[in-house]
Amino acid sequence: MQTRALIFDIQDLSIQDGPGIRTTVFMKGCPLRCRWCSNPEGQASYPELMHINTLCKKSYKCISACPYNAVQKNDIGCPQFNRDKCKSCTTRECVDSCPSHAIKFAGKYLSLDELIGRIKPNLPFYKNSKGGVTFSGGEPFLQSDFIKEFINETSSFGLSVGVETCGMFDWSGSKDIADKFDFFYYDLKCLERTMHKSYTGSTNDAILSNLENLSKLCADKITVSVPVIPGFNDTEIQMKAIAGYCNELGIKKLRLLPYHSLGENKYLDLGSEYRMEKNLSVDQKQLKTFLNIIESTGLKCWVE
Ligand code: SF4
Ligand code: SF4
Repeated sequence: MQTRALIFDIQDLSIQDGPGIRTTVFMKGCPLRCRWCSNPEGQASYPELMHINTLCKKSYKCISACPYNAVQKNDIGCPQFNRDKCKSCTTRECVDSCPSHAIKFAGKYLSLDELIGRIKPNLPFYKNSKGGVTFSGGEPFLQSDFIKEFINETSSFGLSVGVETCGMFDWSGSKDIADKFDFFYYDLKCLERTMHKSYTGSTNDAILSNLENLSKLCADKITVSVPVIPGFNDTEIQMKAIAGYCNELGIKKLRLLPYHSLGENKYLDLGSEYRMEKNLSVDQKQLKTFLNIIESTGLKCWVE
């Protein structure tokens, strides 16, 4: 039994992550490293220091506050965190020292009671709108024991519970909760194995096998989510192939998620590098063509 979960965000009154009014719970930790990921703070399975560069007013108080000398001025006069020296210390004096609130830790451990207490005030909204809770991430199934407990403990609340998954998880540890979810948003980025590995850090073997297993149990609950990424999968051939594969599995719904670079600054805040080219965008006409191609195979398709 997993008594607490590492969560990096909770968003209330969400209307995009499933039916009705919802709370989206972002679970931290993901086995993939998609180059375009807009939530890089959700990837590592531990709390991570973020120095939010756009908020930093260069007071340099963090430099003197850190007992481990982990912060120094860089060439252009900005505080720079040396992540090898940072001990993620429990006192986190750098965080408290910053008058601009430019330092934070992404990821906090919450107990089941804390999470349930957090969502309880929203119960009337969920009830009136037939909404509920969506687990997102990161990859929620990395913490599937906690989600199991959550579903068991809240079974009398009448919540709709859904999950957004990248599909990369251990099927044997998660299959017994598959039937407890009301819906799945299941990422399918591309069918080609080598290309998948090059852009996400991992092949898609487990992702495809899990989708096949899941669709045997509940194809009607699955919406396949396809991020449309320039230079990766934005071709008619790839869209046709994905649509054909979904049809073979009996899946009826597919949503297209056009690439955006809104998460780019977060890479800098985490001290890492954004590996997508600058100024990429998805052409609206091309998107419409993809939508038509997919719909022509009989799938219900929309763009989000
Ligand atoms: S699967 Fe999602 S959360 Fe994980 S790295 Fe890819 S885009 Fe980010
Ligand atoms: S978390 Fe602690 S060790 Fe890391 S930079 Fe802040 S004060 Fe220094």
